[in-house]
Amino acid sequence: MSKYDVAIIGSGPGGYVAAIRCAQLGMKTAIIEKYNTLGGTCLNVGCIPSKALLDSSHHYEDAIKHFEGHGIDIPGEVKINFKKMIERKASVVEQTTKGIDFLMNKNKIDVFTGLGSFKDATHIEITGETTQTIEAANTIIATGSKPATLPFITLDKQRVITSTEALSLTEIPKHMVVIGGGVIGLELGQVYKRLGAEVSVIEYMDRIIPTMDAAQSKELMKAMKKQGVKFFLSHKVSNVTRVSNQVTITATDKKDKEVTFTGDYCLVSVGRRAFTDGLHLENAGVKANERGQVDVNDHLQTNISNIYAIGDVVRGAMLAHKAEEEGVMAAEILAGQKPHIDYNLIPGVVYTWPEVASVGKTEEQLKESGIAYKAGQFPMRALGRSRASGDTDGFVKILSDATTDEILGAHMVGARCADLIAEMVVAMEFRASAEDIARMSHAHPTYAEAIKEAALAATADRALHI
Ligand code: FAD
Ligand code: NAD
Repeated sequence: MSKYDVAIIGSGPGGYVAAIRCAQLGMKTAIIEKYNTLGGTCLNVGCIPSKALLDSSHHYEDAIKHFEGHGIDIPGEVKINFKKMIERKASVVEQTTKGIDFLMNKNKIDVFTGLGSFKDATHIEITGETTQTIEAANTIIATGSKPATLPFITLDKQRVITSTEALSLTEIPKHMVVIGGGVIGLELGQVYKRLGAEVSVIEYMDRIIPTMDAAQSKELMKAMKKQGVKFFLSHKVSNVTRVSNQVTITATDKKDKEVTFTGDYCLVSVGRRAFTDGLHLENAGVKANERGQVDVNDHLQTNISNIYAIGDVVRGAMLAHKAEEEGVMAAEILAGQKPHIDYNLIPGVVYTWPEVASVGKTEEQLKESGIAYKAGQFPMRALGRSRASGDTDGFVKILSDATTDEILGAHMVGARCADLIAEMVVAMEFRASAEDIARMSHAHPTYAEAIKEAALAATADRALHI
């Protein structure tokens, strides 16, 4: 029987990063993945394929809507080759997952293909083409998550679908009804709206992306409405039925009136659930909580001292970069180091256009916890850079402590905010004040100037260009 210092179950961004870090730290490392390709949700059916389709559909939208305004005439009709678009996405995924094979090889990590399940706290059975058992002094559970659904919905995966199927459709829907106005619903809803589908988003709460700052919800909804996406907020879905190729969704609005929606596809994007099916946690004595997440302490350790868990399968934001940080942290703890993650500084991004990005506390959270703060906001439309590119939607908002001026949160909507947010993560990591940012030179003309201006507004209400 092969023996390892550490075995990692699951090869998503949590698992494969943990494996690399363990190997770097000199541990004999195994990684177990039930699918034939490594990379987990993120690389196969999550972050990477969704961004590939967002980019392709964005190019198409630019060609049909924005090129003309830039003085570019396209003779003839611009056509979508949807099959090719999906094939390109698949090839981006293939290149990316092959990159993980390379990294496993390079770091001399043993890869096992098959379902990993605990026999006891130090033995894992792997069921693939053959069945074998390995011994691991330590294990890191990184089994991720799966799409959640509602009790009355039958996901047939053809017409009533999750993000996984929405990334590999064979036709462009005529009317896609999206249940859930969160990250997946809005990113994939925007893809299909751009490609010509009618898109209706039904959201249970009174705003989209309800966990982000309310100003971001409002601004993104305004921008997406301009693009033609229809929103139905404060609607409670009560039934979903498919007859032939039509799906009918029944919901009640806030006045308790019944509303029906009919589409050819229904995307269910109401969140994801921690995934531990088949792991046989009970054989190792590992406890999960009532939400199905593996319970961990601040050191990512389960109730069984040699078993750790990271990423979507444990509490906290279901984000690839959060999983990666935890992968590094678990490996370093196993090596006797004392790493630390500041969960307040894990940024959140929605890759619609305009992009939405956040770090730290929202205005709603600061109000709720009674923290006195100053807010500085600057609109993208006031930037020369935004006018040059035509991306004038959005703003940057910086929240700083009323007494010390320390930055407590940054929330933005606009072109390239997914990249801009990194400046605010750095600033907050080093506990910068709004004035620190306001006094730093930001290249002109850039979208980043909105950050400086918002910081000036937060410092002393002295933005320069508005
Ligand atoms: P996963 O990536 O889910 O990987 C878990 C792996 O474990 C899987 O490969 C699974 O097959 C394997 N596994 C499970 N059980 C076993 C077992 N018993 N034996 C062997 N293998 C097993 N996050 C972002 O930060 N940015 C984004 O842009 C983004 N976009 C997304 C878009 C979509 C459509 C979706 C669905 C998600 C997106 N996410 C994004 C979220 C991101 O994908 C997850 O947060 C991330 O993949 C979690 O990583 P993980 O390693 O915890 O788990
Ligand atoms: P989400 O939590 O972002 O959004 C779910 C939405 O569905 C919420 O707005 C919620 O209020 C709504 N909802 C819940 N029940 C409902 C009901 N019965 N009727 C109508 N609406 C209902 O979840 P998601 O969009 O499914 O994404 C899952 C996870 O994947 C997220 O946690 C996210 O972190 C991750 N993800 C991240 C990215 C990114 O980082 N860009 C992209 C995609 C997914």
